[in-house]
Amino acid sequence: MTMKRTYLDYNASAPLRREARAAMLSTLDAVGNPSSVHAEGRVARAIIETAREQVASLVNAKPSEVVFVSGATEANNWVLSAGWDAIALARFEHDSVTSPVAASGATRIDISISRNGVAKLEGVGEALAASAAASKRTLLTLMTANNETGVIQPVAEVAALAREHGACVHTDAVQAPGRIPVDFAALGVDALSLSAHKLGGPHGVGALVVRDGGDLRALIKGGGQERRRRGGTENISGIAGFGAAAEVGEKEQGAARHMAKLRDRLEIGLLRTTPTAVIIGKDAPRLANTTYVALPGKLAETLVIKLDLEGIAVSAGAACSSGKVGSSHVLEAMNLGPEMARSAVRVSLGTETKDDNITAFLKAWEKITDSAALAA
Ligand code: PMP
Repeated sequence: MTMKRTYLDYNASAPLRREARAAMLSTLDAVGNPSSVHAEGRVARAIIETAREQVASLVNAKPSEVVFVSGATEANNWVLSAGWDAIALARFEHDSVTSPVAASGATRIDISISRNGVAKLEGVGEALAASAAASKRTLLTLMTANNETGVIQPVAEVAALAREHGACVHTDAVQAPGRIPVDFAALGVDALSLSAHKLGGPHGVGALVVRDGGDLRALIKGGGQERRRRGGTENISGIAGFGAAAEVGEKEQGAARHMAKLRDRLEIGLLRTTPTAVIIGKDAPRLANTTYVALPGKLAETLVIKLDLEGIAVSAGAACSSGKVGSSHVLEAMNLGPEMARSAVRVSLGTETKDDNITAFLKAWEKITDSAALAA
């Protein structure tokens, strides 16, 4: 008999939505190349343009501002490696932001972080002013919500400050749509990264939303696709699935209330079983679907593996690579100490999450945190 699984790792990837699957299947027989002028080409083009409108609508952007790419990793690499002299960022950004920044050779301006995971504005204005005085082409990047903690960042405020000093602004909004409203126009940013698979679309497709008139040269050079901003024949079925997921996500903004209720039940239950557990970012504005819990003295990897054996899928905040014990760079950046950084487990819910899933999680948590079980 196969064990019933409980999937609570939506921040890593959300299951493909029914509507996205149907949209993808319906495109698989579209034979034309969207750049061709014949009827078959026009059918393929129409699929892409419909999806562009759906994605634009999700984030209140104009369709002409949406550029389809292979995912948020590409979107982030594109923006961050665009020849900036200086880049302002916080240490909690995703690797797809920090790695291209490190490789770019740009001067780094550090945005500091409070102990509950919120970017702090102090000192940022002065650093941007100095950068402007030195005629440096400067970018500020700040994620909309952190993928580990779920903590929502003051992007609009920071963007206004950056603009005062002539800097461009980017936000990695991957974790936000469908969970909190995302308004490209109101945020006042120049570019915003999206990934389809975080909102129930397929893997390997995303978008960079670029303000009309923004001058950002193509990273992937080739044909004239995406108005010369991204070469390569478009991933038609992926883009169609992304569009359909965006349309459902836009209608489901109210789902946050449902998720917040389940998340609160989860956190109350967790703390009852393990009173020494610490809910990270509890006092900060957080996505309603994310609980990031540290259990000092325990290793996140051990907890994740034991939960997996009980049929529960969650993530360690930090992936373990090359045999080293993982430690969350986000928690390190929040100065919570190595003990917390090694012991945090992320539980992330989605619109399909039910009360039963929380019950299953809490039962498994009780079983695996029993000290005998953890010592084994
Ligand atoms: N940014 C954030 C905040 C993410 O959570 C992720 C996915 N883990 C990415 C970027 C990368 O997205 P993709 O998987 O589409 O490359």
